[in-house]
Amino acid sequence: TKVAAAEPFGELVGRVREVCLGAYQHQEVPFEKLVEELALGRSLAHAPLYQVAFLFVNAPESYPLPGIETTSFQTNPGTAKVDLTLAVTDTSDRLLCILEYNTDLFDTSTAERLSSHFVTLLREIAADMDKPVGDLRVLPEGERRRLLRDFNDTSRSYPGDLSIHQLFARQARNAPASVALEDEGGRLTYAELDSRSNQLAQYLQRLGVGPESRVAVMLKRSPELVVALLAVLKAGGAYVPLDPEYPRERLAFMLEDSEAHVLITDSALSGLAGDADVRIVRLDAEREQLEIERDEAPHATVSPDNLAYVMYTSGSTGRPKGVAVTHRNVVRLVFGQTYAEFGPGEVFLLLAPVCFDASTFELWGSLLHGARLALMGAEALSLDDLSQALERHGVTTLWLTAGLFQQMVEHKVEGIKGVRQLLTGGDIVSPAHAARFLRECGGRLINGYGPTEATTFTCCHPITEAEAVAGPVPIGRPVANARVYILDGGMRPVPLGARGELYIGGDGLARGYANSPALTAERFVPAPFSAEPGARLYRTGDICRYLPDGRVEFGGRRDGQVKLRGFRIELGEIEAAIAAHPSVREAAVLVRAEEPGGERFLVCYAVPRSPQATDAGELRAYLAGRLPDYMLPQRYVFLPELPLTANGKVDRDALPAPDDASLARTGVYEEPQEGLETALAHIWGDVLQVERVGANDNFFELGGHSLLAMQVVSRVRELLHVELPLRAFFEAPTLNALASVISYIGSRQSEGKT
Ligand code: ADP
Repeated sequence: TKVAAAEPFGELVGRVREVCLGAYQHQEVPFEKLVEELALGRSLAHAPLYQVAFLFVNAPESYPLPGIETTSFQTNPGTAKVDLTLAVTDTSDRLLCILEYNTDLFDTSTAERLSSHFVTLLREIAADMDKPVGDLRVLPEGERRRLLRDFNDTSRSYPGDLSIHQLFARQARNAPASVALEDEGGRLTYAELDSRSNQLAQYLQRLGVGPESRVAVMLKRSPELVVALLAVLKAGGAYVPLDPEYPRERLAFMLEDSEAHVLITDSALSGLAGDADVRIVRLDAEREQLEIERDEAPHATVSPDNLAYVMYTSGSTGRPKGVAVTHRNVVRLVFGQTYAEFGPGEVFLLLAPVCFDASTFELWGSLLHGARLALMGAEALSLDDLSQALERHGVTTLWLTAGLFQQMVEHKVEGIKGVRQLLTGGDIVSPAHAARFLRECGGRLINGYGPTEATTFTCCHPITEAEAVAGPVPIGRPVANARVYILDGGMRPVPLGARGELYIGGDGLARGYANSPALTAERFVPAPFSAEPGARLYRTGDICRYLPDGRVEFGGRRDGQVKLRGFRIELGEIEAAIAAHPSVREAAVLVRAEEPGGERFLVCYAVPRSPQATDAGELRAYLAGRLPDYMLPQRYVFLPELPLTANGKVDRDALPAPDDASLARTGVYEEPQEGLETALAHIWGDVLQVERVGANDNFFELGGHSLLAMQVVSRVRELLHVELPLRAFFEAPTLNALASVISYIGSRQSEGKT
């Protein structure tokens, strides 16, 4: 039965009736014959041919016979024949309904809910046969209230009337001598951080920075970076974090799109700004002027609804989009919450790049509570570096993306033993690794979920017992002052247990996309269940369902947005960049893995305008000038045309698996030399899943990235007994160059020993 939401129920019944009457004409066909003809194949997973049955029995239940009393014969309720059967018997004054279900699949409570949905639906239909099918309610009032209200009973008080920098200043006043920042180079107390950021804020104000003005910040992770972010807020403005590793074209776009008129950077990086129309502040070159600024906070009339930052995330239209976040959005993330403990006793680690919103939690979760914020070094980090930093600084509260968490648990679990509160997420968290962490490290593990558009965390699921991890790790319940709704295509709540799209409301909801009212209107929609005028919900595109106790389980995406190693990527943005290459006619991008659960990578499928118009190496180099590293496909397949489905869309399932020919080699293949090079080629081949690695192959062109480099480092340690720094991959990215580095380090190590 094809059900169209707009069709009146009466018409639907009419159609179904015709189909059934047609089918009854063939009711003598044996069931076995049907199964055989359809050749569906047998599966142990479900009953053959159909899993759900509806029986309507309208013969009288008993025939009155003179002198004989009759009762109906009850079949033994031992086993269900199919997954679910609803049998309805028409007794003259009522309908007797029996729901039979497979207890391997359904709990009693689920079956009871299904029955109550059916009854609600019947009532609705009885009240109005001509209602469009999509408007018929299935949720009884009680369940609806539970889903919409009880599960969202999250209001808690928090200082929502104060701005981020006011809350920081309060800490600086209360405990000026406490350590605010700590890195390898030293420490900065709250008083020092306060006065240095005040000086820069004074300077920025004189450059015209005030409420709503955007100030781009492009600095490596360092105390100066934190000073700059705080100074922008103190001056009344909003920061726009820029990653100096991004291609220039992307940086230029972000500078222009964010309407930043000041850029804070240093002399080494300032060249990256090109000829952008901004006032560039070079912290090193302008130190003398800065040091004579007054060190008290400048006056700025900032309200909690003023902009605090604009953070860019991948956009499906081919351009990144800037999420505009306010002070209140941030303050509600770190006050009034129970998902983690905040306070002066905690030590956080600034590990996330400040262009990603996990940094919001790290920066302001620590600095607004008088805690210490340790800074991870700015250079590429290995699992060893990370565990050393955790130990050195005594980190108690840590955020790791799901991928890095998995790596740490697998290769360096002792490194995270001391962390009391470990938050992970940003992507599906592996249950096996979660359980192992809890078994071996104790502590508290929190699965954190949330898009940038709702300010870092929307739902959290804390777990302390390994036994509590059975199956997928839920994303939990909405955090304080967040609300979530799981809705169908018509924005109606789906029943508990059914899948729908997650919508987010509450005080974490960003203002929208900077400079993009149309996109904002598309994703930030009017809230249907709110009494508050103007309330909105953010459509996440995430498919979720409620578990019976109200926790939420994540179940994938409904669009082309993917997560790879914690990076949020719109495949459409990469496709647009490839299609912009002059020799490419059409393109599609997929995420694939060699085997289920294996390493996932991006594959580019391109249709060249003419044969040999471009090749993998050239196309990759072109994209590297436009996209950040994490968005570069690892494989390139050229096709004469893209396969299409019957309705003219790209048939993604029909795109072929890539082979070694799809590698973005820039040179020709060259046999590695016997000995060290061959040994290293084997390690690369295994880690990169490439059959033949050549002597002049480049690690990154073959699809390598920092997490894979970490794996090479540990294999080199095991097999070749050499401690290779991760940095070596960036300095010597080709196989023969890296082999030379290994040989050099190896000889130094043995000299050291003798
Ligand atoms: P974050 O940096 O907090 O991960 P992004 O805006 O980069 O935020 O990405 C948000 C998307 O990432 C979500 O819409 C969802 O698809 C995915 N995601 C985030 N957290 C989780 C999680 N704990 N489990 C599964 N998916 C998640």
